[in-house]
Amino acid sequence: MACIFCQIAGGEIHAEILYQDEEVFAIRDINPQAPSHILVMPKVHIASVADMNEEQSTLLARLVFTANLLATKEGIAERGYRLVTNCGPDAGQAVPHLHFHLLGGRQLGRLG
Ligand code: AMP
Ligand code: ZN
Repeated sequence: MACIFCQIAGGEIHAEILYQDEEVFAIRDINPQAPSHILVMPKVHIASVADMNEEQSTLLARLVFTANLLATKEGIAERGYRLVTNCGPDAGQAVPHLHFHLLGGRQLGRLG
């Protein structure tokens, strides 16, 4: 499997792992766009949110709750943070393994 995030999940490629359980893990983004920039993702390979099905509702919720937990741990929960996921080429998704970007620690630009 050539997917870089699957390789990180499998321990084949090093990353700073901030959290992991049976289903979910989180790493620090290698090219941070904010003082806190964390990627939260499932261990199983899912290309993007567009590829999730209803049976994965609990997994989706766990991704969000993990992001919230990490925001608190990072000390950015109080001032606020952004949780975003890119889906497909127009969004500029570079790695086709579903991940949420957790961004915070500075005033983030308005979307739109
Ligand atoms: P996206 O454009 O939404 O697919 O985001 C991919 C993100 O993965 C980018 O912010 C990259 O900086 C990040 N990234 C790529 N490779 C690694 C890696 N080996 N470790 C940590 N983050 C990575
Ligand atoms: Zn993958």
